[in-house]
Amino acid sequence: MQHCPSCGHERDLTAMRCPECGSFYSKVIELIEQEAAAEEQASLKGRWRRVIGAADKRHALAEEYRQFKAGLTLTAKFTLWVIVAFVFALVVTVL
Ligand SMILES: [Zn+2]
Repeated sequence: MQHCPSCGHERDLTAMRCPECGSFYSKVIELIEQEAAAEEQASLKGRWRRVIGAADKRHALAEEYRQFKAGLTLTAKFTLWVIVAFVFALVVTVL
């Protein structure tokens, strides 16, 4: 029987992490899980889910927006600005 490297609890061979202390049995699996969590964190779906799940939705939305803006590069900001300006110009000329 194998044991957890962190706490020595008997290892569940079907599980990827220790049920006792919650640490991962393998460093690779831990890295994969971290990667998936980071992806979820950055994805639109993950953001949306956090806003929906938050008690204070308005505050959560503002916080997500702030994080989104902080993650943008100058080029991305400029591109977004050009798109907004283009759409605005299109709407104004049609009206
Ligand atoms: Zn453990």
